[in-house]
Amino acid sequence: MAVTHVLLTNDDGIEAFGLQVLEESLRGLAGFRTTVVAPATQQSATGRCMTLNRPLRIRAWGSDRWSVNGTPTDSVMIALGKILRDDPPDFVLSGINHGPNLGEDVHYSGTVAAAMEACVQGLPAAAISLADWRPSDFGAAAAVVRRLLPLLRERPLPAGSMWNINVPNGPESMLKGVRVTRQGSRTYHDVVNDMIDPRGKPMVWLAGKGPSWTENGDSDYAAVRDGYASLTPLKADLTDHDVWRRFTAALGRDLPGQPVFDADGERFVLHRDGPLGLNFEGPTRGGDAMALDGGPGEPQPPR
Ligand code: MN
Repeated sequence: MAVTHVLLTNDDGIEAFGLQVLEESLRGLAGFRTTVVAPATQQSATGRCMTLNRPLRIRAWGSDRWSVNGTPTDSVMIALGKILRDDPPDFVLSGINHGPNLGEDVHYSGTVAAAMEACVQGLPAAAISLADWRPSDFGAAAAVVRRLLPLLRERPLPAGSMWNINVPNGPESMLKGVRVTRQGSRTYHDVVNDMIDPRGKPMVWLAGKGPSWTENGDSDYAAVRDGYASLTPLKADLTDHDVWRRFTAALGRDLPGQPVFDADGERFVLHRDGPLGLNFEGPTRGGDAMALDGGPGEPQPPR
């Protein structure tokens, strides 16, 4: 069997322990070889940020290891567009992040962003996170990499999708198994902290206390809470396809190009008595949830 070339990256920086664990996990795995291209420094919560307004430098850290003084997305773009241009990877792994990437946090995550960049560029990709901020045991996470990567290689997701993997803190013996999950939903509390700097001037520090989670048995959060590794398929396409289908079904034709909404102050209201005979009205910012009445509509999956 051909050797699978895996690009390893992360958002905690090239010196992060989790990246070492990831490299060591693959070192003992037959049929895989690795190249590391990772940010030079800690880049957590940089999301899909890319650097446009300054040049970037590449630094070699021995053979097959490189750092980029930019974001996780920069690192993957430079890996695919330059460093590995003539030796492209077959798979991209981002991690092992020290900290969870669950629920809406995937939107802020540099770990997920790096994998998403690979996904957008047409490569199979996965983000892997150890779902704990405390000093952690990466044993279960390393085991998940070793066991799952051969399977993920054999069964690629559709183009435009990637895996977001979160593993509980602890040794392999503590791991109960693996669940395929959906993105959960969390709320952070007291995120904006008023403080006084050492010179007596006011400042703010964004630092949330642990989030509370919407109860949902098939969520990423619930899997990790229950001792399972969570595998969530994520899509680059952020379209809400369910809402799109409901609107197009109500209109009886495709929406693109149709003037559907009028701006009415803060509210965008579909013409109730308009030429399309629609029966939708509702604020889209704040207030009540959107509702679409009268359309054939499809049942909403529980969330
Ligand atoms: Mn991180």
